[in-house]
Amino acid sequence: MNSPNQTASAEQTPPTTLDQAIQSDALDCVMCGICVPHCPTFSLTQNEADGPRGRISLLLGISQGELTPDADVSRHLDTCLTCRACETVCPSGVAYGRLIDNGRTRLARESTTAQQPRGEARFWRLLRDQLLTRRRRLGMAWQMYRVMQKLGLGGMARRLAGPMGRALPRQLTHTEPSQALPLNPPSSRGRVGVFIGCTGAAMNAPAVAAARGVIAAFGYEPVIPGSQGCCGAMHAHSGEPEAASRQRERNAAAFQTAGVDEVIVVGSACSAELAALPASYGLTIREITEWLLEREPAQWPNLARLDRRVALHTPCSQRNHLVQPEASRRLLESIPGLDLLEIVGNARCCGAAGMHVLLYPEQAERLREPKLESIEQLAPDMVVSANVGCATHLAAGANLVVKQPVELLAESIAAASE
Ligand code: SF4
Ligand code: SF4
Repeated sequence: MNSPNQTASAEQTPPTTLDQAIQSDALDCVMCGICVPHCPTFSLTQNEADGPRGRISLLLGISQGELTPDADVSRHLDTCLTCRACETVCPSGVAYGRLIDNGRTRLARESTTAQQPRGEARFWRLLRDQLLTRRRRLGMAWQMYRVMQKLGLGGMARRLAGPMGRALPRQLTHTEPSQALPLNPPSSRGRVGVFIGCTGAAMNAPAVAAARGVIAAFGYEPVIPGSQGCCGAMHAHSGEPEAASRQRERNAAAFQTAGVDEVIVVGSACSAELAALPASYGLTIREITEWLLEREPAQWPNLARLDRRVALHTPCSQRNHLVQPEASRRLLESIPGLDLLEIVGNARCCGAAGMHVLLYPEQAERLREPKLESIEQLAPDMVVSANVGCATHLAAGANLVVKQPVELLAESIAAASE
């Protein structure tokens, strides 16, 4: 995989303005088109402007002052999922992820009249900043939804939630936090920070509870600072790099104050974002499945057999952004008894993509469709995904049990210790 750092040439003079940065990356593209068939949004519309090569041309034109970013142009750029499937296949090493983020920053700073009709986007931005990235508020809203679900009023709750309702899971089948592995006393192996993000008291609460138990079972004391916040990914991919940077700094301060230098992230997308934290903070960021796979064999607790048919979903953030794209599969393969099933089209984004699922629900649902069809044919006991956004999006489309890999590991460890 080509990371932005790998693709930057050491001999080049660093770009000094945003437009120069865009041009520098865009001009690496030789317009070969190899990436185009790998692009999920191009596959939906067959429109060149909805694929990576077209978007690169648009960004080059804007940065050179030859193209006005009107509403149409903005939409072609907005609908990019930032999945970076294009980047992984590009033979020229174009740093597409950095390029599209810079392009969105450029558009956000140039608030043209043509972009003003995106009032809906402004509504979602407000919702993002006042609810979706606020852990306690989101946790309270989630609990209300859970109560309504239990009363059989889930359908009504989704209707009352307006346009956000279609992004809510149809059934809440995650493991209850109370069923998680009990925490062991602090161990001599040391303390590690646990990043739970804005969904840690809501959709991701079961995975967080499982992660705490698993980390303790491996002999470490999990530390979860209450002052941590959103990882910043939603801001970073919406043209607000300063806000994303502030979020990362806030999180760094929270873990530094807690006295840990290793941070384990429960969620692949958050992990990919936090990895952008400068090394000067002295924090090692590891996604939980990757961290677990790095443990010495002697540290592994006993695992009990789990006879389950599991359809594995691999999030783009794990496949295209992190160090070990196969981490979820490898972790699940370590649990005896699991029958791992391959979802057709796993290499394509499911359409969740952070705020994209809210801003462009039709596109998000069209991208999800083939995966749901494949899951229906596989008829698994559950679906497993390492990213809470993908898990929520899949569960909003069908009556599915969707868990994170660490939840199954927690179950296996708990069953072995009974
Ligand atoms: S594969 Fe790379 S060089 Fe070729 S069109 Fe895509 S981004 Fe450009
Ligand atoms: S990041 Fe994904 S959606 Fe965006 S251009 Fe690349 S392949 Fe297409």
